[in-house]
Amino acid sequence: MSFDSLGLSAEILRAVEEQGYREPTPIQRQAIPVVLEGRDLMASAQTGTGKTAGFTLPLLNMLSHTNAQFKGRRPVRALILTPTRELAAQIGENVQAYSKYLTLRSLVVFGGVSINPQMLKLRGGVDVLIATPGRLLDLEHQRAVDLSQVEILVLDEADRMLDMGFIHDIRRVLAKLPAKRQNLLFSATFSDEIKGLASKLLTNPASVEVARRNTASAQIEQSVHFVDKKRKRELLSQMIGEGDWKQVLVFNRTKHGANHLAEQLNKDGITAAAIHGNKSQGARTRALADFKAGSVRVLVATDIAARGLDIDMLPHVVNYELPNVPEDYVHRIGRTGRAEATGEAISLVCVDEHKLLRDIERLLKREIPRIALEGYEPDPSIKAEPIINGRQGSGGGGRGAPRQGQRPGAPRSGAPRSGAPRQGGNAQRSGTSENRGSENRGSAENRPARSRPAHAGQRRTGNAGSGNK
Ligand code: AMP
Repeated sequence: MSFDSLGLSAEILRAVEEQGYREPTPIQRQAIPVVLEGRDLMASAQTGTGKTAGFTLPLLNMLSHTNAQFKGRRPVRALILTPTRELAAQIGENVQAYSKYLTLRSLVVFGGVSINPQMLKLRGGVDVLIATPGRLLDLEHQRAVDLSQVEILVLDEADRMLDMGFIHDIRRVLAKLPAKRQNLLFSATFSDEIKGLASKLLTNPASVEVARRNTASAQIEQSVHFVDKKRKRELLSQMIGEGDWKQVLVFNRTKHGANHLAEQLNKDGITAAAIHGNKSQGARTRALADFKAGSVRVLVATDIAARGLDIDMLPHVVNYELPNVPEDYVHRIGRTGRAEATGEAISLVCVDEHKLLRDIERLLKREIPRIALEGYEPDPSIKAEPIINGRQGSGGGGRGAPRQGQRPGAPRSGAPRSGAPRQGGNAQRSGTSENRGSENRGSAENRPARSRPAHAGQRRTGNAGSGNK
């Protein structure tokens, strides 16, 4: 099936062709005709499915048809709400690209940057406004934006907006919109809360679902490596260095952890930048641009900062730490294997995270293949320390301290193990608070693992990433 048969205008088809899209993705095939009909839509689609074009192409098509009616200052006729600045910026870029041959104006507004330029641009008239809820309300309070003529509302990544506590802001925005409008709701997951929102927001919606809910794309090769927390950084550096990975997105649970890991990787000679909510918008934009341009090999991100990051052909995603919320795993690994590309998603799992792994596998309804890495077998004497709200008491992990009784990077004896990691072992580690809690000894770690050396036929060193700069 080609884009030509979807009912889009020649100008839009031309822009799409210039993007190099050969055929519509499943979500585009399903969503575009429905939106063009003017119907409300409830779409279950993750980032990476091509959902953005699924709503922006028909939306632009519709606005461009009635464009001539609007003389003088243009009212906002399409409002796209997103949870994060990055997602807003990326949708904005897409809208720009797809509307290249149209005379529509679009604008992205989000917090964390000066409001005045946004107010000025709004004064000049905008057809398509892409916004995060908080900044939109600020602009509305200052009477800088009039939402009374919005014809189409898009809530993108609605699940994430609710997770981030935007429900009240969304309600406030909805109250400013005209009652008669078209509503499109996109969400990767459909909790009862989302269904509640959808039932209030949407009228007789068409329902579109691609890739079964809460499943990960088949194009992503997933694997789990069991490894002690304190050796994760070493293993990651080695994988990047020896695999000669050029672009890898690494997830951490905390901002501090993301910063620390980026620093460590830089010390290992691997260029890395951290991206998280405490960074200024300028720093985040710069880090992303450097990463896309290839001058930074590793982007270390927290879940929230990574929402909506759109990086073409991202080949490697590493879960340096598993997310607390299993759905975030699906979001994270959705950064790779996008559209037609294939990708690899590797999770480095320490003993504290076995329960999180079980939760993720329950959600996926399948087991993620284990790969045992020679020389990185977990120390069976290390006990689990519970993870509470994404943090652990000691904070001592991953700081490069030598493992008990083990020189960092010292070659280990023994063939690759199957069944990693080892179970049991009552020996206590001394001197750290990591002795607390040991409930995470579940079945996840008992399953057979595929075995392969850390990097077949290559030497291991304690500072494997060095020399890459
Ligand atoms: P999205 O799910 O909207 O974040 O899109 C994921 C990626 O797929 C983006 O990089 C798009 O540029 C790309 N994309 C969207 N539609 C297509 C298509 N029909 N063919 C190839 N790539 C696409």
